[in-house]
Amino acid sequence: QRATWAKLLNEKTVTADGTRIELAANIGTPEDVEGALKNGAEGIGLYRTEFLYMGRTQLPSEEEQYNAYKTVLEKMGKHPVVIRTLDIGGDKELPYLNMPKELNPFLGFRAIRLCLEMQDMFRIQLRALLRASVFGNLKIMFPMIATLEEFRQAKQMVEDEKAKLITEGISVAEKIEIGIMVEIPATALLADAFAKEVDFFSIGTNDLIQYTMAADRMNEKVSYLYQPYHPAILRLIDMVIQAAHKEGKWAGMCGEMAGDPVAIPLLLGLGLDEFSMSASSVLRARSMMKELSKEEMKVHARKAMTMGTGEDVARYVKESFRLFE
Ligand code: PEP
Ligand code: MG
Repeated sequence: QRATWAKLLNEKTVTADGTRIELAANIGTPEDVEGALKNGAEGIGLYRTEFLYMGRTQLPSEEEQYNAYKTVLEKMGKHPVVIRTLDIGGDKELPYLNMPKELNPFLGFRAIRLCLEMQDMFRIQLRALLRASVFGNLKIMFPMIATLEEFRQAKQMVEDEKAKLITEGISVAEKIEIGIMVEIPATALLADAFAKEVDFFSIGTNDLIQYTMAADRMNEKVSYLYQPYHPAILRLIDMVIQAAHKEGKWAGMCGEMAGDPVAIPLLLGLGLDEFSMSASSVLRARSMMKELSKEEMKVHARKAMTMGTGEDVARYVKESFRLFE
């Protein structure tokens, strides 16, 4: 099977009925780009920049970050590279920030919440990103956005830093898309309002599922509630994609669900434009998508959304397709 997939390495991803899909890879370090390209990724859909900040004793400098972002952008050439700003907190700690212990870290001071408070630290990352933007096709993404105000404030900081760089005589790419991760149910529910202001959405199902089902993604006792195919999750995903398309924006997914062979037919049917996954899943996804008609998947996805349980959905998909042994 691997050998058959390898033939698809340099092909574009197109469904059986001719819809172009973008298949991207998730990375954690610049070294991961090689693996992404070797596995046929058409872009980077999520660069988790927190790894630059972890396993050390102090914040990375602007220069260090700039070099990392520049390397990724250069290696990816014209391909889109979605770089996510620092998503720390929750399960990921930075000891040198001396953060107070929290009772519910996943509901606490993390990601964009922390960046909007520690603005000096955030501005350094934004500067590094903007300076690197001239070396490729950069898109900036904010994690854990819960309100429009958060998005507006973060976007304003990007604009401010851009203006400062330009007065310093440093060039910045003319057009940089700025989008958000949708990983909080409130944001999915309000996607129509967000879609008027963001350039794109990327659905972070790893967190969206835990927040929707109120089931800690790290807690095995409640892992039975962690259900990607739950109709409630499918409906939220549907809302996000529809809202994006109504405003002419694109919607992607960078949670684990995007590479899941059971989810892929449904996500195609819901109209997802970009799928970002671990590099090793890219070719399998491409070979599946070539066999699936988006129009047919639309019917299946609509039907799945009317079901009562995630188990019903999973059984329905597995019985409808024999693609994933
Ligand atoms: C997600 O929440 O789906 C996601 C991609 O972000 P992370 O797994 O880094 O929290
Ligand atoms: Mg997340």
